[in-house]
Amino acid sequence: MQAEILSVGTELLLGEITDTNAQYISARLREIGVSVYRRETIGDNRSRLTGAFREALSRASLVIATGGLGPTGDDVTAECLAAALDLPLEFHEGAWEDMLEWFRLRGRTPATADRKQAMIIRGGIPFRNKNGTAPGQAILTDGKLACVLPGPPREMIPMFEEHLVPLIRSTFTDLVPLYIKNLKLSGIPESKVGEAIRDLMDSANPTVAPYAGRGQIRIRIAARHTDPAESRKMVDQAADEVKRRLSDYIYGEDEDTLESVVGEIMARRGLSIAVAESVTGGFLSHRLTNVPGSSRYFKMGVVAYSPAIKATCLGVPDEALRKDEAVNAETAVSMASGVRALAGAKIGVATTGFAGPTGGTENEPVGTVYVAVADEDGTEVERYVYTGSRTDIKEYGAGRALYVLWRRLMKSRRSPQGPKEGTVK
Ligand code: AMP
Ligand code: MG
Repeated sequence: MQAEILSVGTELLLGEITDTNAQYISARLREIGVSVYRRETIGDNRSRLTGAFREALSRASLVIATGGLGPTGDDVTAECLAAALDLPLEFHEGAWEDMLEWFRLRGRTPATADRKQAMIIRGGIPFRNKNGTAPGQAILTDGKLACVLPGPPREMIPMFEEHLVPLIRSTFTDLVPLYIKNLKLSGIPESKVGEAIRDLMDSANPTVAPYAGRGQIRIRIAARHTDPAESRKMVDQAADEVKRRLSDYIYGEDEDTLESVVGEIMARRGLSIAVAESVTGGFLSHRLTNVPGSSRYFKMGVVAYSPAIKATCLGVPDEALRKDEAVNAETAVSMASGVRALAGAKIGVATTGFAGPTGGTENEPVGTVYVAVADEDGTEVERYVYTGSRTDIKEYGAGRALYVLWRRLMKSRRSPQGPKEGTVK
């Protein structure tokens, strides 16, 4: 079963907006078992768009177009699909009623031009738009399914999920969906991940593939089998094998983030945290507090940029502050212990470093980041040297701090002397 996607809009061709619709639809079709063979971008032009529909329908069994469904003269997608199918557009009472309802709920009245949006191809099915006025529509002819969806992603995506996905599944009953699981890793370079799972990456079903980005790695495991339970089993087996090899770095799955995972652990164990940031400038606190419910464990964050603040607020000794402009292990450790004491928290985390682009010292070049964690078992500190822009280094530093924190929380659970699960500390 082949599908093609048409992205309609002159603004796409002019490079004014990015085509996220085609990307979204491609990814989702792949998951539900449809192969996308071709994607095309066409301006708001009747003859080219009608031609594009004709050609796509001559090749593919499923054609999905997005954009050009509005009330204005340059919105011609529905009429071009109708022309390509040699079918008329007809005013659809039901679609119009849905639109009137949408206007009524917002205390607005439709313009005459809006009636155009209720024109549905003869034999077509209108898709109600919950997030805008323009309905989408689909038509099944000669075993081929053609459909048009609105351009704005916040209208397109819910309509695609609620109306089109069920229609695709009921029309093409032999689809074999892909079952996917993502493992999330931190604290390890992509090359090492590649080495560890090289043999697994040769497998065709399930497929195992690492994707690196922003100091994180995701290993995507996907399997296709006519029996969904079987695909799940294939994925789970491969995931278990990956976990066995890389357990020190896998902090979660799918939607998990480092901050959500450490947050969940701290909440469960009744731990609290305070953060002292220099190089990361608040980014670590931002990530920790992005998690809903983080007030259960996040006590305070301080951005201690000047040496005087590091000394007076956090008790960093003078010698440490003088050495390499306060970018050193001792500063990081005493910032972590200092903020822990200041907040009365169970855990203190600190960062210090050089974000650049200029500065640094002979010992500590631009990109150096120290991360320290302090808790009742003691302190640990690590040094990394990153490359990238100023914001990259801030971001990598915050990510690394979250990873070091996660690793320490995992260790303390495993070690016999460490805190036990469920103990309130
Ligand atoms: P239209 O339905 O063509 O009038 O599109 C309305 C708006 O939807 C555009 O101005 C864009 O902001 C957005 N849009 C249209 N097509 C796409 C697309 N392929 N990807 C992302 N956004 C889009
Ligand atoms: Mg448009």
